Amino acid sequence: MSLTNRTKVVSNKRMSFLERLYLPAIFKGMVITMKHVFMKKVTIKYPEKTREFSEIYRGRHVLKRDDEGRERCTACGLCALACPAEAITMVAAERQPGEENLYREEKYAKVYEINMLRCIYCGLCESACPKEAIFLTKNIVDSEYGRAQFIYGKDKLVEPVEKDKRIDVSKRQTPEVLAFKKLPNERHNI
Ligand code: SF4
Ligand code: SF4
Repeated sequence: MSLTNRTKVVSNKRMSFLERLYLPAIFKGMVITMKHVFMKKVTIKYPEKTREFSEIYRGRHVLKRDDEGRERCTACGLCALACPAEAITMVAAERQPGEENLYREEKYAKVYEINMLRCIYCGLCESACPKEAIFLTKNIVDSEYGRAQFIYGKDKLVEPVEKDKRIDVSKRQTPEVLAFKKLPNERHNI
Protein backbone atom coordinates (compact mmCIF):
# COMPACT_ATOMS: atom_id res chain seq x y z
CA MET A 1 0.00 0.00 0.00
CA SER A 2 1.37 3.42 -0.93
CA LEU A 3 1.48 6.33 1.52
CA THR A 4 0.09 8.72 -1.10
CA ASN A 5 -2.32 8.36 -4.00
CA ARG A 6 0.45 9.09 -6.50
CA THR A 7 0.92 5.60 -7.86
CA LYS A 8 2.36 4.91 -11.30
CA VAL A 9 1.96 1.67 -13.18
CA VAL A 10 5.26 0.56 -14.67
CA SER A 11 5.02 -0.88 -18.15
CA ASN A 12 7.04 -3.89 -19.24
CA LYS A 13 6.36 -3.45 -22.96
CA ARG A 14 9.30 -3.92 -25.33
CA MET A 15 11.07 -0.71 -26.44
CA SER A 16 10.55 0.44 -30.03
CA PHE A 17 13.46 0.86 -32.47
CA LEU A 18 13.57 4.64 -31.86
CA GLU A 19 13.52 4.15 -28.13
CA ARG A 20 16.40 1.68 -28.38
CA LEU A 21 18.42 4.32 -30.26
CA TYR A 22 18.02 6.68 -27.25
CA LEU A 23 18.39 9.64 -29.64
CA PRO A 24 14.92 11.14 -29.06
CA ALA A 25 15.47 10.92 -25.29
CA ILE A 26 18.92 12.53 -25.59
CA PHE A 27 17.49 15.29 -27.79
CA LYS A 28 14.68 15.89 -25.31
CA GLY A 29 17.23 16.14 -22.48
CA MET A 30 19.37 18.58 -24.50
CA VAL A 31 16.33 20.81 -25.13
CA ILE A 32 15.68 20.96 -21.38
CA THR A 33 19.38 21.74 -20.72
CA MET A 34 19.47 24.52 -23.34
CA LYS A 35 16.27 26.00 -21.93
CA HIS A 36 17.95 26.29 -18.54
CA VAL A 37 21.10 27.85 -20.02
CA PHE A 38 19.10 30.90 -21.06
CA MET A 39 16.94 31.11 -17.96
CA LYS A 40 17.68 33.57 -15.15
CA LYS A 41 20.14 31.93 -12.78
CA VAL A 42 19.01 31.26 -9.24
CA THR A 43 22.53 30.66 -7.97
CA ILE A 44 25.12 33.32 -7.15
CA LYS A 45 28.91 33.21 -7.12
CA TYR A 46 29.37 33.12 -3.36
CA PRO A 47 31.59 34.29 -1.65
CA GLU A 48 32.49 36.86 -4.32
CA LYS A 49 28.83 37.84 -4.36
CA THR A 50 26.47 37.78 -1.41
CA ARG A 51 22.74 38.12 -1.28
CA GLU A 52 20.97 41.06 0.27
CA PHE A 53 19.97 39.97 3.76
CA SER A 54 16.85 41.08 5.56
CA GLU A 55 17.45 43.56 8.39
CA ILE A 56 16.01 40.98 10.76
CA TYR A 57 17.99 38.04 9.37
CA ARG A 58 19.18 35.83 12.21
CA GLY A 59 22.94 35.56 11.70
CA ARG A 60 25.87 35.75 14.07
CA HIS A 61 25.37 37.26 17.47
CA VAL A 62 26.56 40.50 19.01
CA LEU A 63 26.89 41.35 22.68
CA LYS A 64 25.83 44.96 22.97
CA ARG A 65 27.23 47.81 25.01
CA ASP A 66 25.17 50.59 26.53
CA ASP A 67 25.42 54.26 25.54
CA GLU A 68 28.39 54.72 27.85
CA GLY A 69 30.26 51.80 26.30
CA ARG A 70 29.72 49.39 29.20
CA GLU A 71 28.91 45.72 28.55
CA ARG A 72 25.21 45.15 29.05
CA CYS A 73 25.37 41.44 29.83
CA THR A 74 24.93 40.59 33.49
CA ALA A 75 25.67 36.88 33.12
CA CYS A 76 22.21 35.90 34.34
CA GLY A 77 22.31 32.78 32.17
CA LEU A 78 18.78 33.13 30.79
CA CYS A 79 20.03 32.99 27.21
CA ALA A 80 21.87 29.74 27.92
CA LEU A 81 18.78 28.34 29.61
CA ALA A 82 16.58 29.28 26.64
CA CYS A 83 19.00 27.90 24.06
CA PRO A 84 17.62 24.64 22.62
CA ALA A 85 21.03 23.71 21.18
CA GLU A 86 22.96 24.25 24.43
CA ALA A 87 25.33 26.42 22.44
CA ILE A 88 25.96 29.09 25.08
CA THR A 89 28.30 28.84 28.05
CA MET A 90 29.48 31.55 30.40
CA VAL A 91 31.40 32.22 33.58
CA ALA A 92 30.10 35.03 35.77
CA ALA A 93 32.25 37.40 37.81
CA GLU A 94 31.60 40.25 40.21
CA ARG A 95 32.36 43.76 39.09
CA GLN A 96 35.19 45.26 41.13
CA PRO A 97 35.38 48.88 42.34
CA GLY A 98 36.71 50.97 39.50
CA GLU A 99 35.17 48.77 36.81
CA GLU A 100 31.88 50.67 36.68
CA ASN A 101 32.90 52.09 33.33
CA LEU A 102 33.36 48.57 31.89
CA TYR A 103 30.30 46.66 33.07
CA ARG A 104 26.85 48.08 33.58
CA GLU A 105 25.73 45.60 36.24
CA GLU A 106 27.37 44.35 39.43
CA LYS A 107 27.78 40.95 37.82
CA TYR A 108 29.16 40.43 34.33
CA ALA A 109 30.24 37.61 32.00
CA LYS A 110 33.94 37.06 32.47
CA VAL A 111 33.73 34.34 29.82
CA TYR A 112 30.93 34.16 27.29
CA GLU A 113 31.06 31.64 24.47
CA ILE A 114 28.73 30.55 21.70
CA ASN A 115 29.42 27.41 19.71
CA MET A 116 28.41 28.52 16.23
CA LEU A 117 28.36 24.93 14.99
CA ARG A 118 25.73 24.00 17.54
CA CYS A 119 23.69 27.17 17.13
CA ILE A 120 20.55 26.87 15.03
CA TYR A 121 20.03 30.65 14.84
CA CYS A 122 16.58 30.46 16.35
CA GLY A 123 16.89 33.77 18.20
CA LEU A 124 15.58 32.46 21.52
CA CYS A 125 18.64 33.81 23.35
CA GLU A 126 17.76 37.27 22.08
CA SER A 127 14.16 36.92 23.21
CA ALA A 128 15.14 35.63 26.64
CA CYS A 129 17.67 38.34 27.47
CA PRO A 130 16.27 40.81 30.04
CA LYS A 131 19.11 43.28 29.49
CA GLU A 132 18.98 43.63 25.71
CA ALA A 133 22.54 42.44 25.73
CA ILE A 134 22.46 39.80 23.01
CA PHE A 135 21.10 40.21 19.51
CA LEU A 136 21.42 38.26 16.33
CA THR A 137 22.66 40.28 13.37
CA LYS A 138 22.53 39.99 9.60
CA ASN A 139 26.25 39.18 9.52
CA ILE A 140 27.04 35.58 8.77
CA VAL A 141 29.54 33.34 10.52
CA ASP A 142 32.86 33.16 8.67
CA SER A 143 34.10 29.93 7.09
CA GLU A 144 36.85 28.28 9.10
CA TYR A 145 39.05 25.19 8.79
CA GLY A 146 38.94 24.03 12.41
CA ARG A 147 35.99 23.29 14.67
CA ALA A 148 37.55 25.19 17.59
CA GLN A 149 37.45 28.39 15.55
CA PHE A 150 33.67 28.27 15.57
CA ILE A 151 33.56 28.79 19.31
CA TYR A 152 33.14 32.52 19.55
CA GLY A 153 34.30 34.19 22.73
CA LYS A 154 33.85 37.75 23.92
CA ASP A 155 36.61 38.90 21.58
CA LYS A 156 34.34 38.14 18.64
CA LEU A 157 30.96 38.74 20.24
CA VAL A 158 31.21 42.03 22.14
CA GLU A 159 30.77 45.03 19.85
CA PRO A 160 33.51 47.70 19.63
CA VAL A 161 33.53 50.55 22.16
CA GLU A 162 33.75 53.19 19.41
CA LYS A 163 30.26 54.51 18.77
CA ASP A 164 30.70 54.67 15.01
CA LYS A 165 31.59 50.96 14.95
CA ARG A 166 28.63 49.77 17.02
CA ILE A 167 26.23 47.32 15.41
CA ASP A 168 22.82 48.74 14.67
CA VAL A 169 20.08 46.41 15.90
CA SER A 170 17.25 48.96 15.87
CA LYS A 171 15.51 47.13 12.98
CA ARG A 172 15.13 44.07 15.21
CA GLN A 173 13.15 46.02 17.76
CA THR A 174 9.56 45.64 16.63
CA PRO A 175 6.82 48.19 17.49
CA GLU A 176 5.62 45.74 20.17
CA VAL A 177 9.06 45.68 21.82
CA LEU A 178 9.35 49.44 21.69
CA ALA A 179 5.86 49.84 23.17
CA PHE A 180 6.81 47.44 25.96
CA LYS A 181 9.85 49.53 26.80
CA LYS A 182 7.70 52.62 27.27
CA LEU A 183 5.71 51.00 30.10
CA PRO A 184 7.41 52.35 33.25
CA ASN A 185 6.46 49.36 35.41
CA GLU A 186 7.26 46.72 32.83
CA ARG A 187 10.44 47.72 31.07
CA HIS A 188 13.49 45.76 32.00
CA ASN A 189 16.19 47.83 30.52
CA ILE A 190 16.52 50.85 32.79
S1 SF4 B 1 20.21 31.54 18.30
FE1 SF4 B 1 19.14 29.82 19.29
S2 SF4 B 1 20.53 28.11 19.09
FE2 SF4 B 1 21.75 29.94 18.68
S3 SF4 B 1 22.66 30.48 20.64
FE3 SF4 B 1 20.73 31.62 20.47
S4 SF4 B 1 19.19 30.33 21.47
FE4 SF4 B 1 20.99 29.05 21.05
S1 SF4 C 1 23.17 37.90 27.24
FE1 SF4 C 1 21.35 38.56 28.37
S2 SF4 C 1 20.33 36.64 28.98
FE2 SF4 C 1 22.43 36.12 28.39
S3 SF4 C 1 23.55 36.14 30.31
FE3 SF4 C 1 23.79 38.15 29.36
S4 SF4 C 1 22.16 39.39 30.27
FE4 SF4 C 1 21.64 37.24 30.67
